[in-house]
Amino acid sequence: MIKYRLICAEGHEFEAWFASSDSYDAQAQAGQVICPLCGGHEVSKAIMAPAVSARTHESGASAEPPARPAAEIPFMELLREFRRSVVANSEDVGASFPDEARKIHHGDAEARNIRGTATGEEAEALSEEGIDILPLPRLPEDTN
Ligand SMILES: [Zn+2]
Repeated sequence: MIKYRLICAEGHEFEAWFASSDSYDAQAQAGQVICPLCGGHEVSKAIMAPAVSARTHESGASAEPPARPAAEIPFMELLREFRRSVVANSEDVGASFPDEARKIHHGDAEARNIRGTATGEEAEALSEEGIDILPLPRLPEDTN
């Protein structure tokens, strides 16, 4: 898994996990990488360098902690927005997710965003077949 800091056309910065850099590239090209804040599809990688603010640099205060991420949004809220966005933009295929993902991958089903459930083994198998899947973040309320 690899974490990318991404930025959308509106300038929203957020972070997302991908199976690999190839996985990110494929999903980005397919327009499947969506800004959790505005739902925008025009998302690109933000600069990955450690965040060091210009102010810290000028003052020369090395003891200052690194600058906080640009988006001052509570992490859980970000996850919720992300989930809402995914749920709003995908079709729930439930437990047939692995089959459906394969069909779409092989062109046997209409290309679309789907969501559903897969076991760890199924997810691994899909990944080995070159099928990109994005795990939805688990929220505290899910366990209720
Ligand atoms: Zn956005």
